Amino acid sequence: MEKNDIYRMIPRVDSLMEDPLIGEMTEKYGYDCALHGVRSTLEKVRERLDACRSAAEAEKELEGLPEKICRTLERWAQPEMTRVINGTGIILHTGLGRAPLGKEALQRAAETAGGYSNLEFDLETGRRGERSAHFERILCQLTGAEAAMAVNNNAGAVLLMLSAAAGGGEVIVSRGELVEIGGKFRVPDMMELSGAKLREVGTTNRTRLSDYETAVSEETRAFLKVHTSNYRIVGFTEEASIRELADLKERTGIPLLEDLGSGVLIDLERYGLCHEPSVQEVLAQGADVVTFSGDKLLGGPQAGIIAGKKEYIEKMKRHPLARVLRIDKFTASALESVLLEYLNPEKAVERIPALRMLTMPAESVCRAAEKLAVLIREAICCEGGSTSEAPAAITVERSTARAGGGSLPMEDIPSCSVAVAPKEISAAELERRLRGLAIPVIGRITDGKLLLDLRTVEEADIPYLAEQFRKGAILRKGGMR
Ligand SMILES: *Cc1c(COP(=O)(O)O)cnc(C)c1O
Repeated sequence: MEKNDIYRMIPRVDSLMEDPLIGEMTEKYGYDCALHGVRSTLEKVRERLDACRSAAEAEKELEGLPEKICRTLERWAQPEMTRVINGTGIILHTGLGRAPLGKEALQRAAETAGGYSNLEFDLETGRRGERSAHFERILCQLTGAEAAMAVNNNAGAVLLMLSAAAGGGEVIVSRGELVEIGGKFRVPDMMELSGAKLREVGTTNRTRLSDYETAVSEETRAFLKVHTSNYRIVGFTEEASIRELADLKERTGIPLLEDLGSGVLIDLERYGLCHEPSVQEVLAQGADVVTFSGDKLLGGPQAGIIAGKKEYIEKMKRHPLARVLRIDKFTASALESVLLEYLNPEKAVERIPALRMLTMPAESVCRAAEKLAVLIREAICCEGGSTSEAPAAITVERSTARAGGGSLPMEDIPSCSVAVAPKEISAAELERRLRGLAIPVIGRITDGKLLLDLRTVEEADIPYLAEQFRKGAILRKGGMR
């Protein structure tokens, strides 16, 4: 069949626009959008017609065209960003949005940002206020800092800190701390961007206080410590502690800055985790300014928090970059709510989702895994309940969860997973199908089994998870698309 004859079978745009189904779409989404949907669908159909060899094949391709257009339009109107269920056991999974926000913080932010707010308005004086003011007091109270502010993220906080405190001069950093964090944050790049000159001292594994001391010159504007968030140098190592550097700072009058990365406000050791220097600890040991993320171990929204000596923070607040990197009203409100939770650290650990997941005892995780395993077995099981006929073997296995997000890299957090070993399809196929659900489920594959780590799954999501296995269709060959 000639190509032209096939093309002639395609309905015209105006006749499609008159189709009652498309008429409904025009009502719903407006004329321009419907027209765009018609054209875009026709374009795709034309491409597929190119591959058709017979009139019958082409006719089949053209069947139900208005319905196809409707489906395209409906899909366009659906938001693409969606909540997912995290079965990876990685708590601060950057790909999945790092720290999940607690209900209270979210509600507060929705209420505040949903309408007008006192974001930059002083209700007492009726004059223009400052957006950091809402959480500065609480930050100072929690960390012992004289002043504090927050910007868009920690990368921004580091850039602002370096620009304001050291731009135009030299900053001394240990060669063991030239960190790269995922997503293109590299200490030397930030340094260059800030206009400060990086003065590397020591070696990859050993840097002594004397290395910093001999590098001090007229040009030196700051000492920078960078927390090696996502790696550890082990073996024959040495580093100058904040305490030692604080002493050098006193003698030279050069400020001591630290990029702490995660920035915890609670003592993780109390919950059986490794010691992680807290913000208050680092400030007490003599750091002048500390920066850290809002959405790592703090468990809040994406933000970069800067806390420390008033004279430096004031300079940062006045720097033009502070305007470029300023925090938005939604984040400001959520951050304030999360920080207020820390007034009672024991409650904070229960109420902030990331901390709750991090500190939950392994036995509790295993109980949740057992519960899910029982529900899935019930859901998939065939008449009579014989396990040998079930389309998958469901077991509960010990697993290892991670803090993620470049935090606590050495911490193997004991956890529990439900392992699904499908008999008819591969684990990779099951993983793909779970990702395609209305609420996508993200798992991981080990030894041909799909693992769902319950440490990062909310209790309330367990029934939904089990429901997806109803009648075992998701595990059958040809059971799903
Ligand atoms: C995570 C991290 C950053 C980047 O923080 P973001 O909030 O992701 O911008 C910078 N420095 C260190 C040491 C970090 O761990």
